[in-house]
Amino acid sequence: MRSPTTRLSALALIAIVAPATIVAILGYVSLRQWERSAELLFREQARDVAAMAAEKVEMMLRVAEDAFLARVQAQLATGETTEPALDRIVADSPLVRRLYVFERDGALLYPRAWRDPADAALFGETLRPRLQAVWERGGKREVVAGGQVCLAVLLRPRGEPVLVAYVRDADALRRDILETSLAALESPTVVAVLDQDGRAVYARSALGRAEPVLAIPMREGLPDWRVAVYAPPGASPGDMVRRQVMLFTAAFGVLVAVIVAGVMLTWRLTRRETEMAQLKADFVANVSHDLKTPLSVIRMFGETLEMGRVPDEARRQEYYRIITHESERLSHLIDNVLDFSRIEGGRRRYDLAPTAVEPLIRETLDAFAYPLEQGGFKVEVTVAPDLPEAPMDAEAISQALANLIDNAIKYSDTDRVIALEAHRDGEGIALSVTDRGVGIAPGEHARIFEKFYRVGRSETQGRRGSGVGLALVRHVAEAHGGRVSVRSTPGQGSRFTLWLPLGPGGGACPVS
Ligand code: ADP
Repeated sequence: MRSPTTRLSALALIAIVAPATIVAILGYVSLRQWERSAELLFREQARDVAAMAAEKVEMMLRVAEDAFLARVQAQLATGETTEPALDRIVADSPLVRRLYVFERDGALLYPRAWRDPADAALFGETLRPRLQAVWERGGKREVVAGGQVCLAVLLRPRGEPVLVAYVRDADALRRDILETSLAALESPTVVAVLDQDGRAVYARSALGRAEPVLAIPMREGLPDWRVAVYAPPGASPGDMVRRQVMLFTAAFGVLVAVIVAGVMLTWRLTRRETEMAQLKADFVANVSHDLKTPLSVIRMFGETLEMGRVPDEARRQEYYRIITHESERLSHLIDNVLDFSRIEGGRRRYDLAPTAVEPLIRETLDAFAYPLEQGGFKVEVTVAPDLPEAPMDAEAISQALANLIDNAIKYSDTDRVIALEAHRDGEGIALSVTDRGVGIAPGEHARIFEKFYRVGRSETQGRRGSGVGLALVRHVAEAHGGRVSVRSTPGQGSRFTLWLPLGPGGGACPVS
C-alpha cells in the first residue's frame, strides 16, 4: 500500500506541476507568436507612418517651390529681369537663400555677380555637367548638391529658355517644411528626416535611446534624404513582450501560489476530517465501554445480593455503596455526554446566581468519597477565608470540577495526593485541582481541551475515557467569562485551574 506522503506527492504532481507546466508552455508559445505578429504589425505601421511623412514633406515642399518659381516665371515673362524685382521675390521666399538665372550658354543673367563666393565654384565646376544635363533633358526640375540646390528651366517672353538655380535655406526647410508637416503627425513612434549623410536634420522628439525601426527614401523633392521611424524607449515590440513576460510570470506565480495554497488547504481539511472521523469513532467506542463497565459491576453485585449469597451485613453494605457509586459514575458519564451534545447543538443554557464556593467544592468532592477512599487517595482542600460569593451556574461548575477531580483520580499513579484550592486571583476566583500523576507533555497542553482529543488517542495510558471532559470544562469556563489553564510536567503531575470572574460581566482575566 502507498503511504499518504506518496499519495500527497502524486496529488501535488497532478494538481500543481502538470497544470503549471501546461500553462507555462502555452504561455510561452502564445507569447512568442504574439511577439512575432506584434513586430510585423509594428513595422507595417511604421512603414505607413514613414510613407505618409515623406508624402507630406514632398507635397509641402513642392507647393512652396512651385509658388516661388511661378513668381519668378511671372517676373521673367515681363521681359525685365531687373534685379530689384527678383531680389524682392527672393526676400519674400524664406525657403530660397540665393537665386541665379543663367543663359543657355551658361552666362549669368541674374544677379550681376555671385552672391556667395563659394557659388562660383559650385555652379562653375561642380554643377556644370548637371546644368548641361538639365538642358538636355528638356528642363525638368532637378535637385542637386545633396538637396541644397534646385534647378529649373523657365521661359522669357519670346520663348527663350533660361536656367533658374536657387540655393535652399536649410533653416527654413527644417522650420517651415519639415517641422510644419511632421509635427502634427499622429503616431507613438519618433519620426525623423535624415540627410544624404544619415544625419538627423529634423526629429519630432529627442532620439536619445530610441531604437531605429526602418527608413524609406524621399522622392524628387529631397533625393538621397530619408524618413526614418524610431521606437521610443520601452515602446518597441521587444519591450512590450518583455513587459508581457513579466506580467505573465507574476500572474503565473500567483496562480501557482493559489493552487499550492488550495491543495494544502484541501489536504489539511481532509486530514482534519479524517482525524475527526477517527476521534468520533474512538469516542463512540470509549463511551460504550465506559457505560458497560459500571453496568456490569451494578449487575454483578445486584445479582449477588439478590441471590442472598452475602450473609455478612458489612459486606452487604459495601456492595450497596459500590452499586450507588457505579450508578453515580454512570449518571456523571451520561450527564457529560448529554451536556456535550447540548453544547454542540448550541442548546446549553447557564443560569448564573451568586454561589458560595466552599460548599460547592465540598459537595462535589463528596460524590468522589468512595473512589478516593478505595484508591487510597489523600485529599487536601484549601479554601481562602472570606472568599466572596461568585456568580455561577452551580450545577455546571460542579460538573466541571467533577471532571477535573475525575481526571486527577484517573491519571494518578502511585503518588496519590490530590489538592483542591480556591483563592482570589485578580478580579476573580481561581479553583484548582492538582495531582501528582502521569502529567502531560507540553506539546499536548493546548490539544487536550479539544473535543474527543485524548493523549495517545483512544486509550490514554491505559485509562478509559470519552475525550469530552476537558472540552466541557473549557466551555463552562468560557460561558462564565473565565478560562481554564493547565500546568503539567510528565511524571510529576498536573494542575488544572478554573478561573471565574467575580463581576457579572467578567473581570479582567489575569494572564498568568
Ligand atoms: P478523558 O475522558 O480522556 O479523560 P478529557 O477531555 O477529560 O478526556 O481529557 C483529555 C486528555 O487529557 C486525557 O485523555 C488525558 O490524556 C489528558 N488529561 C486530562 N487530565 C489529566 C490529568 N489530570 N493528568 C494527566 N493527563 C490528563
